[in-house]
Parts: sequence; structure tokens; C-alpha cells
Amino acid sequence: MKDLLSVFLLAMLLLPVSPAVADESGKRPNIVFIFCDDLTCQSVSAYGESRHLLETPNIDRLAEQGMLFSRCLVTNSICGPSRASILTGKYSHKNGFYNNSNSRFDSSQQTFPRMLQAAGYQTAMIGKWHLVTDPVGFDFWHILPGQGLYYNPPMIRMGERVNMEGYTTDLIGDLSIEWLKSRDRTKPFLLMSQHKAPHREWSPALRHLGWDNDRVYPEPATLFDQYEGRSLAISDHDMGIERTFTDRDAKLVHPPSLTPQQLAEWNRYYEPRNQKYRESDLQGKDLVRWRYNRYMHDYLACVKAVDENVGRLMSALEEEGVADNTIVVFTSDQGFFLGEHGWFDKRWIFEESLRSPLVVRWPGTVEAGSECSRIVSLIDFAETFLDAAGLPIPDDMQGRSMLPILRGQTPDDWRTSLYYHYYEFPVPHRVRPHKGVITDRYKLVHYYKPDVDDWELLDRQADPLEVRNFYSDPNYSDVVRELHAELKRLQVEVDEVEDPPRSAYGNRAFAGEADPPSPQKKKAAPKR
Ligand code: CA
Repeated sequence: MKDLLSVFLLAMLLLPVSPAVADESGKRPNIVFIFCDDLTCQSVSAYGESRHLLETPNIDRLAEQGMLFSRCLVTNSICGPSRASILTGKYSHKNGFYNNSNSRFDSSQQTFPRMLQAAGYQTAMIGKWHLVTDPVGFDFWHILPGQGLYYNPPMIRMGERVNMEGYTTDLIGDLSIEWLKSRDRTKPFLLMSQHKAPHREWSPALRHLGWDNDRVYPEPATLFDQYEGRSLAISDHDMGIERTFTDRDAKLVHPPSLTPQQLAEWNRYYEPRNQKYRESDLQGKDLVRWRYNRYMHDYLACVKAVDENVGRLMSALEEEGVADNTIVVFTSDQGFFLGEHGWFDKRWIFEESLRSPLVVRWPGTVEAGSECSRIVSLIDFAETFLDAAGLPIPDDMQGRSMLPILRGQTPDDWRTSLYYHYYEFPVPHRVRPHKGVITDRYKLVHYYKPDVDDWELLDRQADPLEVRNFYSDPNYSDVVRELHAELKRLQVEVDEVEDPPRSAYGNRAFAGEADPPSPQKKKAAPKR
């Protein structure tokens, strides 16, 4: 009997470690999710954008070692909703987070961090969360409240308020590395390292003030877009460098929370330049150009600090000896306009705000230096991470695992179109609700409320700047017909709701309307 017991114990010792307690030498990969807020492809040199705005050597290195996605698209181009879609793998109308105005994340929902945690992953969320309710599904969390501040930010660590000193991008880098080094090494891990940068008002690290030597930046071709022949929805915006830019955006007013020493350093850079500006009395296009150059200095400096912190985190992964068994995903909650159409901000179905930068590094699985031009989406991340961890994918998630693409084997039936729906109106920025279908080449868009009922067809091949509407062009009648059918098909597929609640559009939306809006009762498709 005793012999039998010894044999049994010996057998137990020789058995392979079960996946539920596998350490880093096991098969389950770690996941590091490096996330930015409002980072756009035009500012990442790996994308080879024509203006050559900035060199981002650390992000570029990730791309050299991994896969660069040229069309990672969002489904509702705004901060909170994108974050909710990433966590749940669902559209806004399914996870209930429609806008940044009054939405609160229902944290009783299933999310991929909860599922990874339940499956034995150690999970951490560090940085900008922005979903109102506290993070759930994390063993450790240390977040900015709301939008957070760029300098010396108050933060919330596991429910307790803590005051931090330093530049927020660096602090999020520091906290991420600290957590990595103090984690439980017996478990695979998920680390979500989420930057505030380069969100408005684009406040640089003090070390980067003047980094561009007062460069005069190349302008986008559409900096002075007049929106000719376009929907009122497009011309009646409130996100223009000319009409919306504030003194705080322009750094004519200093940001809050600087210490006296920091403020002195801030003033040393900005004040002489601001003084020159005040004396010049710039108007019209000259004023737009001045603001555009100030904007580029500040926004790109914020990206520079993100890039440096990507490098630091990658070095820490190397030092920890886990870089080879870790999926590193670098992305953003949406893109951003850097002067295109005269704009800053996001929200639109247009390419600059629709596209998030996306790089995935995973040695041994992802071919170094590879590229993917197929349509993937932020709603695919949850399923991808669950799939990579060997977990079942819930039926109600609405994306698709990108694992085959990462392995270089894009399925034949990979999506060729994506459904889009933006809600928040009229504040801030006065971008009217719109929905549409996106394909490799075209976009069919419906601006449907409250005072518009306009359809637009964009053709990126004929018009890469997206300044023309081909909807009524007879040469496009077949395309328009096909895209209307595809839009309807996608609305069924994503189980779109016919009447989104009025709250979906934000607190101040459509005040005074007697009845909830009913966009689809108007007309689902126009008569042609
Ligand atoms: Ca954002």
C-alpha cells in the first residue's frame, strides 16, 4: 500500500503542470496591452505617413518585430465607448456605453479581463480607465480618475486616492514596470498599460518643450476644407482649429496642477512665443497656421513620451525574461485629426478618426515585419486574447479572433465590411449622429438626426482625402445599391436596436423633443 502511494506521488510529480497553474514556461502567453488615448496613425512613423511628422523608434521597433495593421477600425470613434467595446467585444448598443456624456460601464458584464482572471491569469489595469465605474476583473488597478491630468495627477489605487508627482505618461510607464517586476511569477499575466496621452489638451513632458526646434510643419491638403457639396452635418461642426480651438488648447493659458518650478520651466518655453503671438494679431489663415503649428508641437511631444515609455516597458519585459512569451499589443481607442478637414478631435467615420494604430508583437507566432491591410476592429481584441489563452469564446461577443491573421493565415471568410455607429450630440463638438458601412474602398454613411437626413458615399480610391460625396453620381448607382443591402445585412448581424434610448446621444441631446428619436422609422433606405 505504501509502495502504491509512493508510485502515485512520484507520478504526480512527473505529470506536466496543468494549464491552470502554468508558469511562464507554460504555453499560455502573457498579454501586455499598451493603449493610448487619441493616438493617430499620422503621428506614428511606422505608418510612413506623407507628412513625416514624428519619428517613433520604439513603436517602429515593435512593428519591425511584429505585425502592423493598416486598417484597425473602431465602431464608435470616441474614448469611453471604444474602451467598453474592447473589454466586452461588443458594439455600444450591446454593452450600453454609447457616449462620454452620461454612460456608465455596467461592470457586471462579461469582459475578457474577468474571464482571463477566472482562468488563472494575474491581471492589472494601470492608467486611464475612463469608464466611470471602478475596474472589475483586475487583481491590481491604479487608474486616473476620469480624464486625468497631465502633470502630478491624483490617481486611484485599488479604490484609494493617491497623489502622484511627475508627468503622467512617465508615471503610467513607471507603475506598469513596477507591477511587472512585483507580480506573481507563477501565473501568466495580463497587463493593461493605458496612457492618457496624447488626449487634448496635448500637454508635453517638460523635457520635450521645444523638441522640434520651432519647425514649420507640412500642412494637410484639407487644412482649409470648405466642405463644398457636403452634408450640413459636416460643415456645421464645432471641432475646428479655426472656430473651436481654445486658449488652453493653444497653451496661451497654462495647464492646471504644475508645481511652481514646473510652471517656471513651462513659461520659459511658451511665454516668449506667446508674447510674439500676442503682438502679431494674426487673423484668418495665418491664425489657423499658427495654431496648427502649436498643436503639432504639443500633440507630437505627447506621442514622443508615449514612444519612450513603450521602449522602457519593452526593456522591462526583456529583463524579466518574458518578452518571447508575451503578446504585446500597441494601439489606441481611436484615431485623431491633425488638421485634416481643418479639425482636431475624432468621432467621424472618416479615415483619420476611424483608424486606430495597431501593432502586435508575438515572437514565434507573428512574423517579424509583417503587415495586414484587412479590416480588423477593436471589437476583435477580446476574442483574440481569449483565443490566445486557449479559452472558449462566448457566443454573444461580436468581433472575431485575429489569431489566424496573426499566424499569417487569414481565413477566406474574413470580414470585408464593418458596421459603424456614432451617437454623441450636440456637445461637445457638434458632430451629428451617423451610422454606416465601411469596406476596403467605400463608405456609405447616413447622417440621420436631428435636423439632417443625408446620405454620403465616400470612395477612398477615387478620393483618398474624403472630400467628395458620390452618393448621387449615376456612375455609382450599383455601388450605392449594394452598400445599402450590406448595411441592412450588418444591422441584422450586429442586432442593431431600432430606437436607441435618448440617453445614448448624451445628456443634452435633443432637449425639448417630445418623443424619443426614431431614426429608422424615417426611412431605412432612400428611394433612388
Ligand atoms: Ca480617445
